Amino acid sequence: SSLFASVELAPRDPILGLNEQFKADTRSNKVNLGVGVYYDDEGRIPLLESVRKAETALLADAAARSYLPIEGIGSYNQGAQKLLLGADAPQIAEGRVLTVQALGGTGALKIGADFLRSLLPQARVAISNPSWENHRALFERAGFPVETYAYYDAETHGLDFEGMKDSLNALPEQSIVVLHACCHNPTGVDPTLAQWQEIASIVKARNLVPFLDIAYQGFGDGLAQDAAVVRLFANANISMLISSSFSKSFSLYGERVGALTLVTASADEATRVLSQVKRVIRTNYSNPPIHGGSVVSRVLNNPELFQLWEDELGGMRDRIREMRHQLVEKLRDRAPDHDFSFVLTQRGMFSYSGLNAEQVEQLRAEHGIYAVSSGRICVAALNSGNIDYVASAIATVLK
Ligand code: PLP
Repeated sequence: SSLFASVELAPRDPILGLNEQFKADTRSNKVNLGVGVYYDDEGRIPLLESVRKAETALLADAAARSYLPIEGIGSYNQGAQKLLLGADAPQIAEGRVLTVQALGGTGALKIGADFLRSLLPQARVAISNPSWENHRALFERAGFPVETYAYYDAETHGLDFEGMKDSLNALPEQSIVVLHACCHNPTGVDPTLAQWQEIASIVKARNLVPFLDIAYQGFGDGLAQDAAVVRLFANANISMLISSSFSKSFSLYGERVGALTLVTASADEATRVLSQVKRVIRTNYSNPPIHGGSVVSRVLNNPELFQLWEDELGGMRDRIREMRHQLVEKLRDRAPDHDFSFVLTQRGMFSYSGLNAEQVEQLRAEHGIYAVSSGRICVAALNSGNIDYVASAIATVLK
């Protein structure tokens, strides 16, 4: 029989499946809130002016396309680690931080997971309940058993902080804990700085291995503010891994621009760790691509372009916040018996709206509004042209 005769059909990715369904929908007023992408007020994925300028400059002094080093573009990696830890971080000055270019945040998670798997073959991985849908699969594929720690409290639409602490305290030493550094996907619920402080104490006391995932830096309160937990952990002398992504913050999804950063205890340790991380990369894809990294590196290392980018990122952040305000206001008018004010305290692109699977299905079937069955909506897909329609439809399915 054929070599592939026994291959089973894999289940469809639930979110990508939703997009296919949306595309096939012929209703002209359809709205896709199922995505994980920032759209502008015209419903388009923006091409940032800072990116356009960097690309124009790159084109003007077009360089030959040799292979990049295994770890990628040096100036990109330095820019990425400064964004995370702060330009004058003592850990960077001491040579304790290493960063490698990665294929998006996903690539950074995968390189980190493969590295950890050889370092801690017996470890288990804990992810938040709920978490980004790819976390579990990614760490399981890397060979780890994956469990969840308490996180979201559906009653309060907030953080189950007591539950979270209990879960973390119950983990065996050297368990790997994946933490969303800001703008939690899918809930939009983040710990406060005081709560992060307590989490850091538990991580230290229990000798846990934090893997911070930061895919939305700048979408919460600002670039530095959103990295507060990274700096808190670093200043508490906690060794950690950080996967960061520029997919959303630069609107460069398809360029696969991410980075894996490790904060170690000494420069000597950093040298040895880098040599092993490079081995993981070498046996995966050898070295990263040039274009996206060159664009981001230009922006990060040119003060004028950096300022422009920070302003554009601030514009995206403000627009999302404005949509949160408007959604809450419009729902207050249309569904006065329901309190949606929690949407204002959530951060980043997403909101766990509290809608159940049945209501989500009704939104799709009767109104052409697509959301994830968990009730996750992408606030960044709302705009002045669709928000009244969406609010009215939500009010209808709440009845
Ligand atoms: N981590 C989280 C929490 C995410 O939400 C995402 C993207 O949706 C990623 C990682 C991956 O980002 P990238 O597209 O850069 O691979």
